[in-house]
Amino acid sequence: MPLHHRTPLLQSQTLSLHTGMEVWLKLESAQPPASFKIRGMGHIAERAVAEGAGRLVSSSGGNAGLAVAYAGRQLGVPVTVVVPHRTSELMKTRIAAEGAEVIVHGEVWDDAHARAIEISEQGGTLIHPFDHPHVWEGNASLIHEVHGEMPKPGCVLVSVGGGGLLLGVLQGLREVGWGDVPVLAVETHGAASLGAAIAAGSLVTLPDIDSIALTLGAKTVASEALVQGLAHPVTPIQVSDTAAVSAVESFLDDHRVLVEPACGASLALLYDRHPELAGPVLAVVCGGAAATREALDHWRRDVRN
Ligand SMILES: *Cc1c(COP(=O)(O)O)cnc(C)c1O
Repeated sequence: MPLHHRTPLLQSQTLSLHTGMEVWLKLESAQPPASFKIRGMGHIAERAVAEGAGRLVSSSGGNAGLAVAYAGRQLGVPVTVVVPHRTSELMKTRIAAEGAEVIVHGEVWDDAHARAIEISEQGGTLIHPFDHPHVWEGNASLIHEVHGEMPKPGCVLVSVGGGGLLLGVLQGLREVGWGDVPVLAVETHGAASLGAAIAAGSLVTLPDIDSIALTLGAKTVASEALVQGLAHPVTPIQVSDTAAVSAVESFLDDHRVLVEPACGASLALLYDRHPELAGPVLAVVCGGAAATREALDHWRRDVRN
């Protein structure tokens, strides 16, 4: 049985009036671990346990780590999550509250990931946060749910970090016969590893991540995201941190849902009436567990400076 929930799909009257086209919201913020991540992490974890995994090891201090911890608790399997030093206390607390062991190692995700590989070699199954076909297959369920609940989209809005959500959406679109639907792949300026790769025609590793949207901070996207990004109607689009945070605030007012700037980045296209939009729009409201009142105060202050 899948570990994710079927989330609400609703037509936003406010955003439809604002953009002049139908806007449909897929509310992944309603998943128990607060983001779409449980679709991919839940699926890969279930497969691993079915194949005999006795321990799951994750390297993400963000929503992927939280989703693996949640999946492990549901499956009755112990989980170790290695997080880098810059992971917030809040996320460490949330992951530990799911019963997972939290180990702090290294400055950035790449360091934590290297340690997670070592730990998994001593007895455990490594769950990659975005670069695995089982992750994409799990994320594709999102499109299967909306198919039949809404007309064929004119475009789909997706935020991109490492590209696991994008790849799942593309797979789902192909599987339901919507393979020609344009996808707007949104990143913030300081985390635009997909945009850089598509422009260069080869994988690009960013020197650093300079964005408030930490969840989008993969220095290099999955190589398959580049391959499919070039083969499908995928348009990479970049927005500012300011636009992402402003969209988070507007969305909270309009829909009483608080999301991370990683998600606000996609929503910013709606609030800014981006010229690439084509109705009916399907916006994946990817969510995020780091969204709190206190975090929102920080984000607002940060983008003003
Ligand atoms: C992980 C995440 C993303 C990016 O997903 P990728 O699969 O890494 O591209 C976007 N938004 C939120 C809230 C996330 O947790």
